[in-house]
Amino acid sequence: MITLALSKGRIFEETLPLLKAAGIEVLENPETSRKLILPTNQDEVRVVLVRATDVPTYVQYGGADLGVAGRDVLIEHGGDGLYQPLDLRIARCRMSVATRDDFDYASAVKQGSRIRVATKYTEIARQHFAEKGVHVDLIKLYGSMELAPLTGLADAIVDLVSTGSTLKANRLIEVERIMDISSRLVVNQAALKLKRERLRPLIDAIAAAIPA
Ligand code: ATP
Ligand code: MG
Repeated sequence: MITLALSKGRIFEETLPLLKAAGIEVLENPETSRKLILPTNQDEVRVVLVRATDVPTYVQYGGADLGVAGRDVLIEHGGDGLYQPLDLRIARCRMSVATRDDFDYASAVKQGSRIRVATKYTEIARQHFAEKGVHVDLIKLYGSMELAPLTGLADAIVDLVSTGSTLKANRLIEVERIMDISSRLVVNQAALKLKRERLRPLIDAIAAAIPA
């Protein structure tokens, strides 16, 4: 059996065409089914639905042989025990720093003042500000980061941005782009050795279907 870990929503939707190109069709719709294990048209392949941030953990410990996870999630997880053969170029967005439109970020950074940054992505934020030599107090949040600068919880946030409309609706501006984000295929290292004859052709077929 080959087990593929996916999260519901955009990753599931955008991975479907890649699976289809590899001859795999998921037989149930996660939006209407309550099942967490979905069969496919191939008896030997199943999909497990997990939280986006849990995908690397399932694959690392062998709960799934492979999975699809955002670069953001992989950096925060650390990537231990994971082979990352493919950038699938799906679920694309960017990681950015945003502030209230009346906050002078450039001056705060130039003056070397300590800034308070709220984020779900503490590892990415820590690395980014360390490289810039900016002193930050990081505040870990689990959702709605846009609210932090509006309530005075933080001066800035580090968050994913795609169109920028959520920032705009909350009078926030993107003051710095940290990195481009897309989702990657991750494979359990032991599974790649033990199930190589089944996994290698699957990885190759997915690779051939990645959008240019
Ligand atoms: P939840 O929304 O259930 O709290 P999540 O935010 O971790 O969970 P998704 O919103 O499905 O899960 O995001 C999954 C991945 O898709 C993220 O890790 C990121 O790589 C990418 N992503 C997030 N937001 C966007 C976006 N607006 N546009 C494109 N890709 C995105
Ligand atoms: Mg989300």
